[in-house]
Amino acid sequence: MPQRALVTGAAGFLGSHLTDRLLAEGFTVLGVDNFSTGNPGNLAHLVSEPRFAFEERDICQFFDPGPVDFVFNMASPASPPEYLRLALETLHVGSIGTENALAIAHKYDAAFLHASTSECYGDPLVHPQPESYWGNVNPVGPRSVYDEAKRFSESLTMAWHRYRGVNTHLVRIFNTYGPRLHPSDGRVISNFVMQALRGEPLTVYGDGSQTRSFCFVSDLIDGIFRLALSDEHLPVNIGNPIEFTILECAQAVLEVTGSASTLTFAQLPQDDPTRRQPDITRARSILDWEPKISLREGLTLSLDFFRSQL
Ligand code: NAD
Ligand code: UDP
Repeated sequence: MPQRALVTGAAGFLGSHLTDRLLAEGFTVLGVDNFSTGNPGNLAHLVSEPRFAFEERDICQFFDPGPVDFVFNMASPASPPEYLRLALETLHVGSIGTENALAIAHKYDAAFLHASTSECYGDPLVHPQPESYWGNVNPVGPRSVYDEAKRFSESLTMAWHRYRGVNTHLVRIFNTYGPRLHPSDGRVISNFVMQALRGEPLTVYGDGSQTRSFCFVSDLIDGIFRLALSDEHLPVNIGNPIEFTILECAQAVLEVTGSASTLTFAQLPQDDPTRRQPDITRARSILDWEPKISLREGLTLSLDFFRSQL
C-alpha cells in the first residue's frame, strides 16, 4: 500500500510543490485548501493524477480525511500584505486549524509536520539565527497576527508531542521563492521580478539595507521531506544561509531579467525585521541537508513562470 499524506494549504505555493514531491515519491495525497490565498491553477496539472484528490475546505472546521500516514500542515496566509488583510483568519488557522490537523495526526497515528517560520525570531538580536534563539517578537504589533499564531502553533505542536505522543516535526522556513509564488501577493521576489519584467520601478521599502536569505523552492521541499521522515521533534531551520540586502536582491533581479527598471523607495512596514539569516548547522547534521541553488540560479529557474503571469 502506498503511504497516504494529507497536505493542508495544498493549493498554495509551497503546498503544491510539496504535493508534487510526495506524488513523485509514490505517495497518495489528499490536498485541502480554502483558496484564501491559494490558487486552483497550482494543482491544475494534477487533474488526471489518480493518486491525488482535492477537497475545498477551511481547516478551522474539523474534518476527517480517513486514515493517513503523514499530515503536512502548510495552510496559512504567508505574505505580509495577505496576513494583514486576513488578520483574524491567520490567527484562527494558526491555532484552531493547527489543532485540528494535530488531532487528525493523533487519530491515525500519523507523522505531523508543521510549516513554521523564521518570523518566530521576529526582529532578531542574534545573528545568524540558531533554533535555540527565542526571538524578539512584538506581541501586539501588526505582524503579531502571523508571528504569534506561528509561535502558538509551535507550542501546540510540542504539547501534542509531549502529552499525546504525536510524532511531530517543526520546520522554520526562511524566505522561499520560485515558480507558483503568487505574482501579486506582495512578497519581495515576486514584486521585484514582475516589476522588472513590466519595466516598472522596483519598490524598495525603507533604504533597502535590511537583509533576507532566499531559498529556492526545490531546496526547501527537499529539507521538509527529509525532516518529515526523521526522528527530530524540535524545530529545524530550513533556508539558504547566503544573506542579501534588499538592494542586492533588486540588483540580482535586474541582472537576471535584463531589465532597465529603476528603483523607487517607499516606507518600511512597521516591525519589518532588519536582518535574517538561518544557522543551518542542525539541518546539515540531522538531515544531511543543505541548499544547492543560488539566488541568481533560482531567479533564472523562476523566470518562465513569472513571464507567464504577465
Ligand atoms: P501561500 O499563501 O501560497 O499558501 C498558503 C495556502 O494555505 C493557500 O493556498 C491558502 O489558500 C491556504 N489556506 C490558508 N488558510 C487556510 C484555511 N483556514 N484552510 C485551508 N487552507 C487555508 O503561502 P506559502 O508561501 O505556500 O506558505 C505555505 C506555508 O509555509 C505557510 O504556513 C507559511 O506560513 C509557511 N512559510 C512560508 C514561507 C515562504 O517564504 N514561502 C516562509 C515561512 C513560512
Ligand atoms: N520588500 C521590499 N519591496 C517589496 C516587497 C518587500 O523592499 O516590494 C522588503 C520588505 O520590506 C522586507 C523584505 O523585502 O524587508 C522581504 O519582504 P517579504 O514580504 O518578501 O517577506 P518578509 O521576510 O518580510 O516576511
